[in-house]
Amino acid sequence: MRVPFLKPRPVRLSDHLDELAAHEASGVFSNFGPVNTAFETRLLHRAFGDEGACMTACNATIALLLALREATYFNRRRGAKFALVPSFTFAATAHAVSWCGLTPILYDVEPGTWLPSREAERRLLERHGDDVAALLPCATFGNCLDLEGYAELSARTGVPVVIDAAASLGSLDAQGRAFGRSAPMAVVYSMHATKTFATSEGAVIYCADKDRIARLRQMANFGFDDRRSSQMPGLNAKLAELPALLALKKLDEIDRIVERRTGLYALYRNLLPDFVFQELTGLRTAHQFVPALLPEGAPVCRADFVQRMKSLGVGLGTYFSPHLAEQPYFREISLVDQLAVTERLASRIVALPLYDEMEEAELRYVCEAAAGCLH
Ligand SMILES: *Cc1c(COP(=O)(O)O)cnc(C)c1O
Repeated sequence: MRVPFLKPRPVRLSDHLDELAAHEASGVFSNFGPVNTAFETRLLHRAFGDEGACMTACNATIALLLALREATYFNRRRGAKFALVPSFTFAATAHAVSWCGLTPILYDVEPGTWLPSREAERRLLERHGDDVAALLPCATFGNCLDLEGYAELSARTGVPVVIDAAASLGSLDAQGRAFGRSAPMAVVYSMHATKTFATSEGAVIYCADKDRIARLRQMANFGFDDRRSSQMPGLNAKLAELPALLALKKLDEIDRIVERRTGLYALYRNLLPDFVFQELTGLRTAHQFVPALLPEGAPVCRADFVQRMKSLGVGLGTYFSPHLAEQPYFREISLVDQLAVTERLASRIVALPLYDEMEEAELRYVCEAAAGCLH
């Protein structure tokens, strides 16, 4: 049997020829046109109970860059040059920091939830105080962060926070609300083809503060006011109408997809009792794949495990290994805090296959292979 790691499954537009034809007939192909507006309106209603505002962007990397620039430009901390970024995350976050002219400080995560270490954040804020321009915690693998805690920290210290929730579109927090809802800071979600909310390229920025989204929308369109005169830092971060149509159609099936993936994830946990899984903090997680740690003391090293699985026809990922501090560019531009937990996780983590239409027989095959490859 061959089981790929992921099988991206954006909505098939060939099944929606009427809407595709209507889009083409509209003559509007970008610039927050009618399809983008319909998607934003429906997402805000369904996921966020019409509280606050949201906007699309061309991808989450650019959306993070935009949100960080907004947070630091309109909340200027004179001379502040650092941004706190967990080392156990995807490259996009630290790249956004670098494009904003800031220096990442790479810090550790919690051992069970794999979320950014609150203790490390407190300590680094104490040590670097006024030099910290922003905090960029990551909702690791769609797990839920304590957003109220971050809002309090931001209010108390004056340090703005931007949330990397790239994998979280479809995750529900402990109260059963869409992760991010009511957040006073920008929350950035990806709609990349490989994410659970799969389109092609795309992102969403949500914030309970409508003014912040209005500023971000203006920044995403060259910083223009209605006279097409730049009022603030800007770039072109707009999502075209065609991928927005993919997003609009995905909304109709996202709950079903996340429920199905949740069932598959639970089966993995049952069938692999020796592996260590993430402690989930929300009511529902939009699992993109199944990250798990090789059992402590397993006689096989991670590289050999991945190789053996591959020879049995099973594709694996190793997110987030190498972690950021192990990547040459980030090592060159960053300060690195202590990373004991990150190093332990990164050396043992594998990402097991998951996709919308994965068959139970395929999953059982992966689990039998995984158990066998440990020895
Ligand atoms: C996927 C991902 C991104 C980047 O999203 P794009 O839309 O592909 O730019 C950023 N951060 C994390 C944690 C991700 O998983």
